[in-house]
Amino acid sequence: MTDVEASRAAGLERTAGPLLIMLAAPPFALMMWSALARHDGSLAALLSEGIDWPRPSLAAFAILLGFAVFQALLLTLLPGRTVLGPPTPAGARMRYTDNAALAWTITHIAFLALLFSGLMPPGLIFDELGALLLVGSIAGILGTALLYAKGRLAASGADRGPSGNAVFDFYWGIELHPRIGGLDLKLLAISRVGMMGWSLIVLSFVARDYWQTGAVTNALAVSAALQIAYVARFMWWEAGYIATLDIAHDRFGFYLLWGVLGWLPAIYPSAALYLASHPVALGTLPALALLAIGGGALVLTHLADAQRQRVRASDGQCLVWGRRPDVIRVRYHSLKGSEEGLLLVSGFWGLARHFNYASEILLALAWTLPCGSGALLPYFYPAYLAVMLVHRALRDDRRCRRKYGASWDAYCARVPYRMLPGIF
Ligand code: NDP
Repeated sequence: MTDVEASRAAGLERTAGPLLIMLAAPPFALMMWSALARHDGSLAALLSEGIDWPRPSLAAFAILLGFAVFQALLLTLLPGRTVLGPPTPAGARMRYTDNAALAWTITHIAFLALLFSGLMPPGLIFDELGALLLVGSIAGILGTALLYAKGRLAASGADRGPSGNAVFDFYWGIELHPRIGGLDLKLLAISRVGMMGWSLIVLSFVARDYWQTGAVTNALAVSAALQIAYVARFMWWEAGYIATLDIAHDRFGFYLLWGVLGWLPAIYPSAALYLASHPVALGTLPALALLAIGGGALVLTHLADAQRQRVRASDGQCLVWGRRPDVIRVRYHSLKGSEEGLLLVSGFWGLARHFNYASEILLALAWTLPCGSGALLPYFYPAYLAVMLVHRALRDDRRCRRKYGASWDAYCARVPYRMLPGIF
């Protein structure tokens, strides 16, 4: 590649691409809500009848603010064991309190108590969803501007540094672990507001269906059960999540903050939103089959994630599928100097370099298939997830090659497939 070609490619990746995403994704997310909630998930109906753009409401603002403050209090005040994140590039280790499962349980009990006591109408979240998504999206953009200003003026820790490209810094973020006092802003936004909110949105659709009709359709029950189980397992595994790309490597800017406030609640629960607005009849046998496939995929994803973390935490002194794990010992450089680590080459990590991504896509498909073949738009989420995870696998390969050099090439030679053995 010539210098001119390289600078064009960098311009596309660091400026034009992020700009396009930041301009197009917010209206697209709201358009998806309009199509799924108001036009039976039909693109043709959306185009012929026009997009119902949501309007902000005081109720949506109050719900979102109250929810975020409640989650910040739970994150800071609930007890839990202290866990350390992996070493950052500057050699620091962040401290976290492992209390996500307790926070999830308290939040869901509180939500059900509000519903059963009559203090919250069962259709409130569904009715206010458009306004909630709009307010969340605006909060994501304003929050990104504040993060950008904090990164430039009052960054926390040594893992930071503007890249010199303001568009890219806004999009990707300047700081790795921005904190205010003891409050970890990244964990609060991603896990406690974004992921927790997803589970509540889906639960509210089930409650609304039940209150309106006295029953919950099979299709919504299966899709909702799998999505809520996915979020619950995420919360029980949050101490492992702090060692993943989002928390350990990606900086905190528009991509992650708007992603969890504006994109996640509009796109991830798509199947449940479609089924709540457009009931689908699903036979008992297909319902059970999808539950089993989705449940199996969830278990596989968890086992793969947990296996890597268990082997690293014990420095290889554990069993993987009944045997001593096969590992490659690696050396890499952080700002602190030379460090040691390991790459697991057996178990799930010997099948493919990101087997967990493949099972995650299968799970998303299992909770979308109850929507049947009446509309294509609910399938946007699994399709987007597949593209995003393929891109992520390629991005992770590049990062790991930079970090581990020849050792990463040796791992790739022994485990040639990225996600699915024999296929990709
Ligand atoms: P992984 O859990 O696959 O972790 C990748 C990191 O693990 C690498 O950067 C590297 O980090 C380390 N690593 C790579 N290979 C090995 C190995 N052989 N042995 C030990 N360590 C290794 O990626 P993610 O963080 O992206 O995903 C975590 C979970 O979150 C997955 O289940 C994924 O499906 C899910 N996910 C869901 C998304 C969604 O929107 N639904 C989005 C993204 C992820 P290091 O520098 O520490 O070596």
